[in-house]
Amino acid sequence: MADLRFHILVYLVLGLVSLSFGLIVYFRDRKNVIHQTFGLLNLGLVIWAFGCVIWLFQTNESSALFWTRVFDVGATLIPVFLLHWILAFLKKDKEKKNIILACYFITAFFLLFSFSSLYIKEVKPMLNFPYWPQAGIVYILYLILAYFGMWLYGLYQLILAHKKSGGNTKMQIKYIIFGTTLGLGGGAANFPLMLGFTLPFPPLNFLILAYPLIFACAMMKHELLGIKVILTEFLVFLVGVLLLTEIFLAPSLKFIIYRSGVLIVFGVISYFLIKSVLKEIKTREQLQELTQKLKKAYTELKKIDLAKSEFISIASHQLRTPLTTIRGYISLLLDGSYGKIDKEIEEALKGVYQNSLRLISLVSDLLDISRIEMGKMFFDFKEISLEDIVDDVIKDIKIIAEKKNLYLKWDKPEGLPKIVGDQQKLHQAILNIIDNAIKYTKEGGVTINIRYQKSGTKDTILFESSDTGAGIRKYELESIFKGFDRGDNIQKTHPDGVGLGLRIAEMIIEAHQGKIWAESEGEGKGSTFYIELPVG
Ligand code: ADP
Repeated sequence: MADLRFHILVYLVLGLVSLSFGLIVYFRDRKNVIHQTFGLLNLGLVIWAFGCVIWLFQTNESSALFWTRVFDVGATLIPVFLLHWILAFLKKDKEKKNIILACYFITAFFLLFSFSSLYIKEVKPMLNFPYWPQAGIVYILYLILAYFGMWLYGLYQLILAHKKSGGNTKMQIKYIIFGTTLGLGGGAANFPLMLGFTLPFPPLNFLILAYPLIFACAMMKHELLGIKVILTEFLVFLVGVLLLTEIFLAPSLKFIIYRSGVLIVFGVISYFLIKSVLKEIKTREQLQELTQKLKKAYTELKKIDLAKSEFISIASHQLRTPLTTIRGYISLLLDGSYGKIDKEIEEALKGVYQNSLRLISLVSDLLDISRIEMGKMFFDFKEISLEDIVDDVIKDIKIIAEKKNLYLKWDKPEGLPKIVGDQQKLHQAILNIIDNAIKYTKEGGVTINIRYQKSGTKDTILFESSDTGAGIRKYELESIFKGFDRGDNIQKTHPDGVGLGLRIAEMIIEAHQGKIWAESEGEGKGSTFYIELPVG
């Protein structure tokens, strides 16, 4: 008996685990066929495991034979319930209805023999078991058709599904294949002894322990969360059973009342514990669902945004050619190429000419933005010196400042480190900043500076353009970079701008891993624009 203690313990724990998991999973969703068949599978395991416990306690041959036949009823039921569960899990139970039905018929056939000597012939001492069952001819048929036949068919279906599936389902199927192989493989270790062969090692029934556990985990949609509830419920169940046993073993009424009280308190606490775990899971599931929806909406928006950029890009492209032609003709008219024109008409044409220039600039700004947004703007990155670019810009623009009687202070620094950038694009961004500074300044002027900065591991070149002009209100300091956003004060004095230059400048600087920002003390107090670009 002493040697059998380990086996009794294994069967007992297996029975308890199967009972609790079977009940937990079945009652979680009684109408779901996956849960129903999981319940049935565990019923088979419970009959088998508890049958084994009682069998191991038997002290005479005939009662031992009876109990081996009882636990073999459980064993006979397991393959068909397992196959049914696997097919339900793979959502193939409807398609394979006839196969499932045939398997139930085969099982029913074996059950008819379960208490006859054709199924279990006799019991005899094997290893250290005094009454080990010996298989009859029908039992051998069961082994071939049901145990191995249904198991291998289920395995085949699992492998097929594993190949076709992905993500979480693939993971779950892997669990099930692993669990089945471990469980049924462990169970199969009993059979040589039943066929009269002795083994050098005792039966590996303890492996079966892993199998309801692994299955239950695999069944949960969000694996980790599922495990949390199952484990909580399982622990509650086990402690509950222990407390209940204590009540039955109580020596007096006083103890019965006391222990019942403990059980009730435990029941209440457990109820709230499980409820809170379930609530947490629900919240997390809702969150996951929301995230999923958000992701979908984001991709949709991205698609729309791209479509918009594409549309703008095509439209701008188509507009640019006729606009350039119009500007060319007006220019010819103003030059007198088509003959002398009246002063009045000339004035009107000058207006048309100015507006055609504005339109062309707007269209090319739009084209730039849409190209950058679609990732189709080509950047020609090379080693360049920012001070050369600024110098070029100043040469181009100096004349405008002079015309407005504004100073333009710029001392080209020497020996600054080079940066990696696109010469033409950076020219465009800096031109826009200095052009704005001159445009939005009536008196005083603009001071341009460039300096090298070293802060920690980051080496940068800082460009700075300060003017004594219109200034920017605090709340507009960021929005002016967002496109089509112009300062309220500026819109009145300069109605001709569009508000895209800074947006483009920002996109260009960001493509260089740099930063652009503006500072101002407010309206009428001048503004300073900064561009910071990494060195190297
Ligand atoms: P635009 O000059 O065509 O309006 P930008 O994108 O270049 O477009 O500038 C956006 C807005 O930022 C301007 O309308 C103006 O309100 C503000 N801004 C830019 N530079 C200055 C500056 N130096 N001083 C005052 N406001 C400025």
